[in-house]
Amino acid sequence: MTRAHNFNAGPAALPEEVLKQAGEEMLDFNGTGMSVMELSHRSKEYEEVHNEAKAGIKELLQVPDTHDVLFLQGGASLQFPMIPMNFLPDGEKANYILTGSWSEKALKEAKLIGETKIGASSAEHNHTYIPDIHSMDVDPTDTYVHITSNNTIFGTQWHTLPDWNPPLIADMSSDILSRPVPVDQFSLIYAGAQKNLGPSGVTIVIIEKEMMEKIPNSIPTFLRYDTHADKNSLYHTPPTFGIYMLNHVLNWIRNRGGAEGMQERNNEKASLLYDTIDHSGGFYKGHAEKDSRSNMNITFNLPSEELNKTFLEKAKEAGFVGLNGHRSVGGCRASLYNAVSLESCEALRTFMLDFHKNHG
Ligand code: PMP
Repeated sequence: MTRAHNFNAGPAALPEEVLKQAGEEMLDFNGTGMSVMELSHRSKEYEEVHNEAKAGIKELLQVPDTHDVLFLQGGASLQFPMIPMNFLPDGEKANYILTGSWSEKALKEAKLIGETKIGASSAEHNHTYIPDIHSMDVDPTDTYVHITSNNTIFGTQWHTLPDWNPPLIADMSSDILSRPVPVDQFSLIYAGAQKNLGPSGVTIVIIEKEMMEKIPNSIPTFLRYDTHADKNSLYHTPPTFGIYMLNHVLNWIRNRGGAEGMQERNNEKASLLYDTIDHSGGFYKGHAEKDSRSNMNITFNLPSEELNKTFLEKAKEAGFVGLNGHRSVGGCRASLYNAVSLESCEALRTFMLDFHKNHG
């Protein structure tokens, strides 16, 4: 059996150790005579997994007691409308910082619900950079400020996370637990698990408890954060298998030095590829400006469309998966989430060097 060099943008690579363990536990999880998928979500065996995963997020991200951790469904996409529904009342204004397609989608949903403003945008430069946080139009009267900490499609990442006065909300779908973050600076953090933390189907929400006091009575039960917080994310049937896999991935992260360990590992992986790009004499050209580069999604182009195409074809033949750029920007993209190995990055680097030699 050979495992692919998987650079998918999400769902993405999972740690081999975790997949093996899940395989071993598939027919008999913890002496229950069944898989986790077959357990009742009200059983003691499942509840242990559920609570361990929640404690794992709290520990690894150092979530303070002022915040709660929720496991929801509907992906990050359901958070786009849920956030303004819960937190943007009539007569107030939410601030959206636009650094890519996902921020734009979040704004589009908020506009359906209430008043918004754009505190900064990199759209005019095809989202090649993160605007300077000191020159953003952020005001203490903004109801909240929404940012996207890593821009999956364009390959940019916020390297300094702001500590603003209005409540700060972040979509961390594509960089959660890839590095330490000051959770106390955020009123809400959300992320689908399917890039850095597990399979698709579970959305992690870290929410400041005080925020939930503001939710109007008119919001339907299921779409209110406090419904899920009050019931320990067991208000309805949670995505049990996803949470079980998340728990295994969290243990895998803990065994590799936690958030700091991931940061070190991810820096090393990304440097290998950015160095290759920077030392290619312009053959490979990165999309993002250097000081805004993402450690998660490396976006680049070759000198022509023709060469992009040949590169992607040859890479596929050589066993590399998922290197096509997003359909909206084209070119190439290598996603290096937590579980992507250094060996896969080294193999890609070698492939890039050889391709340059043969086609440069
Ligand atoms: N935000 C970001 C930054 C993303 O990368 C994605 C998915 N690629 C989404 C939101 C949408 O996530 P989902 O598919 O879980 O709704």
